[in-house]
Amino acid sequence: MAHLKTLLKLSLFYGNNPEYILFGGGNTSVKEGKELWVKGSGLFLKGITESGFVGMDHAALETIWQKKYSRDPLEREAENLKDILSARLPGQKSRPSVEVLFHSFLPGRYGVHTHPVLINGLTCGMEGEKAVEKLFEGKALWVPQHEPGYILASSARKKYLSFVKARGMMARIIFMQNHGLFIHGDTEKEIRDLYGLVREKVLKKIKKLPDGVSKKLPAPVMKSLAAETERCFGPGCAVSGAVNGTILQFAADPVLCRGIAVPFTCDQVLYAGAAVCRLETIGDMAKTVSRYKSKFGRDPAAFILAGEGLFGIGKDAASAGYSLALARDAVRIAWSSRYFGGPHPLKKRIIDFILNWEAEKYRAAAGRRSAA
Ligand SMILES: [Zn+2]
Repeated sequence: MAHLKTLLKLSLFYGNNPEYILFGGGNTSVKEGKELWVKGSGLFLKGITESGFVGMDHAALETIWQKKYSRDPLEREAENLKDILSARLPGQKSRPSVEVLFHSFLPGRYGVHTHPVLINGLTCGMEGEKAVEKLFEGKALWVPQHEPGYILASSARKKYLSFVKARGMMARIIFMQNHGLFIHGDTEKEIRDLYGLVREKVLKKIKKLPDGVSKKLPAPVMKSLAAETERCFGPGCAVSGAVNGTILQFAADPVLCRGIAVPFTCDQVLYAGAAVCRLETIGDMAKTVSRYKSKFGRDPAAFILAGEGLFGIGKDAASAGYSLALARDAVRIAWSSRYFGGPHPLKKRIIDFILNWEAEKYRAAAGRRSAA
């Protein structure tokens, strides 16, 4: 397929940049003739090769919009997954990205979907939609937050079609509330130019950027954390910590921390849990963990410690690193969202859905395999 090389270039360009994508987040696609090739579920765009893409029959994907699915969210997704899997080209064995339907309804040859942290300051801002309308003069589409998978793609499709009808033009730039950015275009240059335009316009609004670089937490703090996490979670629990000026501002201010007490994005729920838990002292860990457990039925993965910084925990160093990275992103999103009306969290219904949806568990497990 002639266009797969360009897709690889675009995928590596955005996938290798943590400002756009972390771990298994984001996905890309190309359409050629009757085929659509999309990233495999959970795979990392970073370092992806041709074998990381799954070939789909585009017309078969389009028939999915005529289907009627169960009203139960988890049953609906299971039924939809069956249809998606049977729309694979003969011989294709991998599972396509959960966002394959989003790629399929957009007309651009290339689709590049990322979760850019600073641009998510806008998508996770109370006035994000208003800002998009103003900054892009009615030429970009805003898609409200929804459960990922079929519901998100189907609502985005309806929004996209009514945008085209009402405004007589395509929306090449799509902002997904509490999620990220989707750009589709016919050439590599078009994609890169539109990404550049979005970055320029959004970053101009963030008068003071949050710190992007962080240092490790000091050794004595890490030692105390290791002892306390072992007491709370048992031996072998890995800890990864970081601090910078912006993190310290959050660590000093319980009010600011409310912005990260509820997650912003699906990636955050998947890799760092349903909240960044605030600790006034290390000794508060046990009671905070038990509160979190009774609310979500599982252990927390990310904490902010007053006066010290952020830390993530996990069963190994890689998982602890994932949790920390997503918690660090939450701080940057919360900071940037102040320029777009303040933090707008993910809905509880969506958090619960992600915690229980098999496709997200698959994505997380595939991500761990991909990183190994
Ligand atoms: Zn996404």
